Amino acid sequence: MKSWIEIPDQSDFSIYNIPFGIGSDSGAPYVCTRIGDQVINLYKLAQTGFFKGLVDDVDVFNQSVLNPFIALGKPVTKEVRLRLQETLTNMNSPLHHLPEVFAPFRAVQMHLPVAIGDYTDFYSSIEHATNVGKMFRDPANALLPNWRHLPIGYHGRASSIVISGTPVRRPNGQTKPNDANQPVFGPTKRLDFELEMGFIIGKETQLGETISTSNAEEYIFGLVLFNDWSARDIQTWEYVPLGPFLAKNFASGIAPWIVTLEALEPFRVQGPEQVPAVLPYLAYQGLKNYDIHLEVQITPDGGETTTISRSNFKYMYWNMCQQLAHHTSNGCNVRIGDLMASGTISGPDQGSLGSMLEMTLGGKNPVTLNGGGQRSFIEDGDTVTMTGWAANGDHRVGFGSVYNQVESALKA
Ligand code: CA
Repeated sequence: MKSWIEIPDQSDFSIYNIPFGIGSDSGAPYVCTRIGDQVINLYKLAQTGFFKGLVDDVDVFNQSVLNPFIALGKPVTKEVRLRLQETLTNMNSPLHHLPEVFAPFRAVQMHLPVAIGDYTDFYSSIEHATNVGKMFRDPANALLPNWRHLPIGYHGRASSIVISGTPVRRPNGQTKPNDANQPVFGPTKRLDFELEMGFIIGKETQLGETISTSNAEEYIFGLVLFNDWSARDIQTWEYVPLGPFLAKNFASGIAPWIVTLEALEPFRVQGPEQVPAVLPYLAYQGLKNYDIHLEVQITPDGGETTTISRSNFKYMYWNMCQQLAHHTSNGCNVRIGDLMASGTISGPDQGSLGSMLEMTLGGKNPVTLNGGGQRSFIEDGDTVTMTGWAANGDHRVGFGSVYNQVESALKA
């Protein structure tokens, strides 16, 4: 496939991608896609009759969230993507005569792409769970007995998920320093990121209904980069007995573009072997992991950028279909726009770890940055950027980026 739009080499937004997001320029937010460095306003395009016979209510594109569009259902949204791909490769496309539907990416402000009703965070990377288990608990028994039997997760907080570019304020919280008898309240000293991939629910279930690993993909609209900001000292003190709370819910960053499952189809790969065998409701067939290269960068305020991690979504021990089957196995319902995040994605080697906690061994071995600085955890003024893409020759499908700069804490 070749588009008549000029697409920069190595662009995440090739003709093979066609992701969805919410943008605005001079007026109200609209549903959009992106090709190369151009954003296409799908509301303006729909008003020309472009989606006639497929989406007749053009107002689904005149929205500040993707939920109504996603609710059209995969048979429709899939065709919308294909119709866009067709017209962007067709030399006689009517879009040649519709310059007003295009806007340069730089001129478009991107917004939170979906109204997220509920956010669930899993813990599905065996490398991450092992590394953290060694540090927080027992090095000899890093994985708890349940870990290989079910995709561990917890219910997160949707209200504090912020669009890429939003500053993240260092949280205040309660911690207990090792040498103190009493806890103290103040800014976290161990601010960290978690490299994650999220998926957005594209079809609802009713309370009591379950999803199987074999039909789970019908319920997944697409994937998005996600940074689950974490405060490790708050986490250490609070997480027993009920798990993550204020160490996690002060902010999570989400990228603006949702890449559809259809666009990722060519990048399916076999997941890791699961030993022992999982229970029948978690068994699956086929290729359910995706080869998506992921990177994390730190940029100190006014300083040079350093890539500190190169990981891959393919390392996930538990795949998205298993997560969804497990999540609904008790009848818990899911709704359009719900976000399910993978949990920190760490690979098998030192260069592929998905958090500072792991990279620095709890702060003991700082990371050296280009330009000479060192980081045990994230400092005020630092910008953390995550990027991701799947590629096969010139067939590239990327996720753009999620970045947040850290602001100093409010006076405690
Ligand atoms: Ca997490």
